[in-house]
Amino acid sequence: MSISKDPAAVPCNECQAGMMRLRFITYFTWLDEELVTVPNFPAWVCDVCGKREYDERAVNWLTTLLSPNAGQTTITDRPRRRLPQAKRGQNRPSTSE
Ligand SMILES: [Zn+2]
Repeated sequence: MSISKDPAAVPCNECQAGMMRLRFITYFTWLDEELVTVPNFPAWVCDVCGKREYDERAVNWLTTLLSPNAGQTTITDRPRRRLPQAKRGQNRPSTSE
């Protein structure tokens, strides 16, 4: 890979001329019908054409954070326990008169 000497800038693949630099902007996203704003969100902004690309890891983090099902498939260390006394209808002696 041939990356620029500046680790904080990558060549823009939109205009092929500018460099995309890491900046912190306010990220807007919709969560259902609610507009969520995330300040100081990392994004790559081209200094020539102004193209924005949000930091992939940050987007993944945010998506995980906002997802109602977040972590349900990854959290395996807390299995649901069944209480032993939850069984019904057992040990009830049949009425013998
Ligand atoms: Zn550009």
